[in-house]
Amino acid sequence: MLQNIRVVLVNTSHPGNIGGAARAMKNMGLSRLVLVDPLDFPSGEAVARASGATDILDSAVVVNTLEEALVGCSVALGTSARDRRIPWPLLDPRECATTSLQHVEQGGEVALVFGREYAGLTNEELQRCQFHVHIPSNPDFSSLNLAAAVQVLAYEVRMAWLAIQGQPTKMSKVETTAMLNTQPVTTDELELFYGHLETTLVDIGFLDPAKPRHLMSRLRRLYGRSGISKLEMNILRGILTETQKAARGESHKRREEDV
Ligand code: SAH
Repeated sequence: MLQNIRVVLVNTSHPGNIGGAARAMKNMGLSRLVLVDPLDFPSGEAVARASGATDILDSAVVVNTLEEALVGCSVALGTSARDRRIPWPLLDPRECATTSLQHVEQGGEVALVFGREYAGLTNEELQRCQFHVHIPSNPDFSSLNLAAAVQVLAYEVRMAWLAIQGQPTKMSKVETTAMLNTQPVTTDELELFYGHLETTLVDIGFLDPAKPRHLMSRLRRLYGRSGISKLEMNILRGILTETQKAARGESHKRREEDV
């Protein structure tokens, strides 16, 4: 799917940005880079900034015009940092990603088009794109670095793609640890805890077994609401054990005082 989405950089001045864009693309699983009349390419600086994504640079297609870059595409999405006067269907990066993947799912090819560092895309170039995409940046400082703009769109494409694949967006390792920490207690473990809690409350003199009132049922309701995990239960059980020990020490002392 992702191989049907190409990133088109128009007339880029700084080869470092081409490298940065290649890196951003590879990080997000995109691989097709098309360069329209780049000022300085191939270049060592592009390789340096690609930091390992040199395969993307090696397979980059260099063409002279935007028209050539868009050959075979069913949709082109042109990015712009500014509001243009011409009214045009405008998408945010998330919508851009879903629109792109819809086209790919229907067998089409997609171009995400990025402009020059100093001047962006011309109105004529933007009118070759069916949609315009604006990253909702600070209106007083709206223009992102070219490679950073590529990163934002590539990230949204990846998130939308992961959702379509039904793949998790969290690293599995993190999930396993989180699962261990959040593994819920069983009802029998909860019962043992309530028993321990009740004895402790009696030990410390907070609960009078002759006049229990509704204390235990209220505490059950409180803990029942909390969705407590095994790990948290162990902490509470530890606190109860230490409380009991401390209470024994205190009552021992008190007995000594009584004597
Ligand atoms: N001075 C130019 C800025 C170009 S920044 C202008 O006003 O258009 C270089 C490229 O990065 C832009 O052509 C666009 O492709 C992308 N870009 C930067 N900021 C963006 C934003 N907020 N939304 C969408 N694309 C952006």
